Amino acid sequence: MTTLVMFSGGLDSTAMLYKLLTGSADELHVHHVHLRNRDGRARAESDAVAAVLAWCRAHCRPFSFSESALDFESLRAIPIDYLAVAYAACQVAIDVPRCNRIAIGTLAVDLDEVKRKVTQKQRRVFDAMYACYRERKLGEPVIEWLYPVYELTKAQVAQSLPAELRAVAWSCRRPVPVEGGYRICGECKPCRKRAEVSAQLQIAL
Ligand SMILES: [Zn+2]
Repeated sequence: MTTLVMFSGGLDSTAMLYKLLTGSADELHVHHVHLRNRDGRARAESDAVAAVLAWCRAHCRPFSFSESALDFESLRAIPIDYLAVAYAACQVAIDVPRCNRIAIGTLAVDLDEVKRKVTQKQRRVFDAMYACYRERKLGEPVIEWLYPVYELTKAQVAQSLPAELRAVAWSCRRPVPVEGGYRICGECKPCRKRAEVSAQLQIAL
């Protein structure tokens, strides 16, 4: 059976992927959704995904990979990430033979009072869609959801990764365009958290 790893290229999902590659023997299918919206971080994430996967292919064990894109750049509102991920995960779970597990890199510490039901809500969206495919006799009867880094703090996430992966995983929500590329904004919540963990552990992050 195969585990579908929903991979954003961020620090948390990189820690999840690295943990599954090095700490399990599960057959893995990694999937990245290019989420294009007004935040404008799709390119930075896509570069991070390429760099993380190249490192993992060279230093870990084999896995398969696919990608998809959802483009909402012309909208004013920014669509909720976990809904987009649930939608894409359903399509990929149907596409990957014998896929019966879905791994998500959510961290409990990121879920405040408002967000604490995110994982259930994401599964509810997935389940409603998946049921439509099951009616057509597609997919597996039971899907198990894994949260391999759920209990970790941000510092533990950072510590769990080799320096090379820490350096290429992307976290900034609103990258700033600069000549020839982009840079982190340094002000969004993930940027501030990375700086805090970097200072706390005295490591480059
Ligand atoms: Zn930022």
